[in-house]
Amino acid sequence: MSGPAGGTGGGFAVAGGWIEVIAGVMFSGKSEELIRRVRRATIARKRVQVFKSRLDDRYAGVFMVASHDQRTIEAIPVDSAAQIAQRIDPTAQVIAIDEAQFLDAGVVRLATALAERGRRVILAGTDTDFRGEPFGSMPQLMAVAEVVDKLHAICVLCGAPASRNQRLLDGQPAPYESPTILVGAADSYEARCRACHVVPRRDAAQGSLF
Ligand code: ADP
Ligand code: ZN
Repeated sequence: MSGPAGGTGGGFAVAGGWIEVIAGVMFSGKSEELIRRVRRATIARKRVQVFKSRLDDRYAGVFMVASHDQRTIEAIPVDSAAQIAQRIDPTAQVIAIDEAQFLDAGVVRLATALAERGRRVILAGTDTDFRGEPFGSMPQLMAVAEVVDKLHAICVLCGAPASRNQRLLDGQPAPYESPTILVGAADSYEARCRACHVVPRRDAAQGSLF
């Protein structure tokens, strides 16, 4: 079996399984990259299973992974890592999981167990929340992975590489204290660079380091 080339061309040969993480902000092309890797695994005649957090239902609905440019592949919607474990096809050689930041901490154990059983595990997720802080289990997944690709979008304000998710509530930057996951709320997101990212704090004095 070829090693965790990560779709980037290089790679090294390993006997068993491994974990690949595709991290980055929204619009950075994580779903596109996950779809590309899944398609290539299918061309290589690997048995592939795709899961995604049910929390993300943009565009194609819950039974698809969709990229912002409308590319899609079928996916099994799940609410937890345990649900993935229950639905794993024992013959699957490649397990892909999109929107991994929404899953509970069990996803780290699950990915590790699958890799130890010889599976290639591909996880895509937003590694920082709207505050620019680590999101869910993404930091742990990035630590245990053999390969991590951190993708960038384009800052909608200045055109620089974007590494932050700007949350807007009614068109205004969302305050630091607003909840990380707002299901069904009228919020929207933009890709921004660090310099253009705005997160107002109630207590503006706190956090001054220098
Ligand atoms: P992710 O899964 O990381 O949210 P997607 O794969 O769904 O990303 O979408 C990436 C696509 O989004 C790009 O190929 C591009 O067509 C589109 N896009 C829209 N806004 C931006 C932006 N600000 N920066 C980069 N790509 C963007
Ligand atoms: Zn910018």
